[in-house]
This record gives sequence, structure tokens and C-alpha cells, in this order.
Amino acid sequence: MTAQTPDRFRADRPVPKPGIVEIEPYKPGKAKAEGVENPIKLSANENILGSSPKAQEAFAAAAGKLALYPDPRTTMVREAIAAKYDLEPERLLFGCGSDEVFQLLCQTFLEPGDNMVQPAHGFAAWAIGARACGAEIRNAPEKDLHVDVDALLEQVDERTRLVFVANPANPTGTWIPFSEIRRLHEALPPSVVLVLDGAYAEFQTGAATTEDFDLARHERNVVVTRTFSKIYGLAALRVGWGYLPLEMTQAVDRIRLPFNVNIPAQLAAVAALGDDDFRQRSIDLVETWRPWLTQQLGGLGLDVAPSAANFVLVGFPKTPGKTAVEAEAFLASKGYLVRGVGNYGLPDHVRITIGLEEHNRAVVDLLADFMGR
Ligand SMILES: *Cc1c(COP(=O)(O)O)cnc(C)c1O
Repeated sequence: MTAQTPDRFRADRPVPKPGIVEIEPYKPGKAKAEGVENPIKLSANENILGSSPKAQEAFAAAAGKLALYPDPRTTMVREAIAAKYDLEPERLLFGCGSDEVFQLLCQTFLEPGDNMVQPAHGFAAWAIGARACGAEIRNAPEKDLHVDVDALLEQVDERTRLVFVANPANPTGTWIPFSEIRRLHEALPPSVVLVLDGAYAEFQTGAATTEDFDLARHERNVVVTRTFSKIYGLAALRVGWGYLPLEMTQAVDRIRLPFNVNIPAQLAAVAALGDDDFRQRSIDLVETWRPWLTQQLGGLGLDVAPSAANFVLVGFPKTPGKTAVEAEAFLASKGYLVRGVGNYGLPDHVRITIGLEEHNRAVVDLLADFMGR
């Protein structure tokens, strides 16, 4: 116990364990704008097309089953994913969103004094899970908003238990070639878990989206995670999953609470997996509008990071009147909610989820206005 730590055992009230009250709470994308009814939400990378009608039907059909506990093994989703992605079903781990998978990995591997290594602009949920275990977070600088493998490796020491990387990344949207991920893996000690967060993998044009699974299949320290929240449009139902080495799955499963994926979520997830048409429409929309937005916003003099995800990260000038904070407020006042990412160490950037055609055009027109003021 350090000198600053209150003596938890003699305090006049229950005091949380060290580190808890220093954790910065997760900030979700804004869902409301003052004075605007029904704003367009482009702040949380949700699927702008909604979700598969088949998934919605399956969800509705679950209404008759609310008195029942769900299957603790999430068997129906397990089998559907194993078949669709060609993975061993016993190596899959399901969570209340992939957020829970991250948290379970942290709880399984991190103890106070250990550390977790991530890129400087890493996804906030990873660090929350790690901090809750008393671990130190080590941020590796990024190179021009791209994950830098050498910088990650420099942060690794004998107390490193986990390395998290998302590819494509959030909030930058950028990606690195898979050869870089392989190089990272090869240089890591075998005792370190490499977590490859593939929340946006399906949106990366032209990438073989199975490379991460191919790597994980033969290694004892690689975890790949995916989610139903983005491409499948089921963020409300909270279903995420990981593909883990078998012995790691068995370890993590000991602390996973038994009924962590509910029945409506399981039914809708299976139906969503069967709707290739919805999945393809989601990809097509992003592939149509991502280059357009990148080009149009670039044409306004804004700095758009090359994106492989369903959003773009846009850099604004520091000039008063034209800053990222002001752009976010301006768009909100016009009914378009986007995400300021100052809490990700990017105070001059705004993250914008790719919307429907009319949303994308409106955002560009509004920002043209904003920049021309
Ligand atoms: C959205 C997102 C997820 C998904 O989280 P869920 O808990 O599955 O909804 C995971 N990782 C990153 C980087 C994300 O942006």
C-alpha cells in the first residue's frame, strides 16, 4: 500500500480498491442534441441500415421465451459461427458484446503490477477492463494515426500479459497490413496474449478477413474477436465473440457468468448470420460512401485519415471558429451527431459514422458551410 492510498480497512465508509475511482468512465457517442428532435446519430458506428429483417423477426419470436434462462453455452450461435467462419466450436467464447470478452481476458490474465500494451489511440473498453484488474496501461505512440508495431514492442516487458490491437482501428479507422500483425506476433514472448479486435474487419475492402483466424488457429497466444454490433446491426442485443486457443477458452470459461448472452440475442444473432443480403448491403453502403466522404471532406481542406471501417476520422484546424469541438457542436445544432474524440488523445479530430446518402451529403454541405464561415 502506498502513502496516498486511503486505509481501506479503517475508513469510515467502504472505499473501492486502488485504481477504481481513477478509471475514466466510458463515454458513449451522443444520442441527443439540444433543441433538435430526432437527430441523425453518426456518433457510435452503429449500422445505419438498422438490422436484418430476419433478425428482427427472430427477436420478436423470442417474446414467448422471456421466462426461460438462456442456454449457457450459446450453442446455436456457436454452431452457426463455427460453420460460417470454419472454426472449431469448442474454441469460441461468447460475451455480452465483445466488451465482455475483453474484460474476461483481462480478469483471466492481469493482476496488480502486470501491464497491458495498446496503441496510443486504442479502444477505451480495453483499458477499462485492464485497469479494473489493477494493471498498468502502456500506450505505444502511433505513426501518422497508424498502429506502429515497433512502438508496441518497445512497451513490452516481463510484466506484459496482454497486447490489444484493432485492425481496422477505432477511432482512427486506419489499418496496417496483416504482415505487420504477424511481425508483431513473432516478436512477442509466447507468454503474452495478442488480442486482435476485428470489430470492423468486414468493412475492410479487399482484405482476406480470415487471416486473423488463420494465425490464431495454430498459435497458443492469439485471440481474435468479432462482434454482432456493427456489420450485423445488433448493438442493442450485445453479442460479441472470441476465437481462442482451447486451453485459454477453458480458463476464461471458469469465470464467465453462465447466462451472459440472452435468448433474444442468441436467436437474432443466428438469424443475422443467415442473412447474407443484409450483410452485403451494409458493406456496399460503406464501400460506396467512404471514398466519397473522404474525397469531399478532403476537398474542404480537412484532414481525413484513410479508413477501412464504417466511419471516417476527420482532422480540423486549430483556428478559432474552425476547431473540431466547434464542428461537432455545429453539426449537432443542425441535427447531426458525430463523435468528438478528445478522450482518445485526438482533440483536433471528429469521428463520423458513414450514413445513408442523404446524411453523407448533408454532413458535407454543413461542413462546407462551417469551413467557409
Ligand atoms: C464497437 C467496437 C467493438 C464492439 O463492442 P461490442 O461490445 O461488441 O458492442 C469492439 N471493438 C472496437 C474497437 C469497437 O469500435
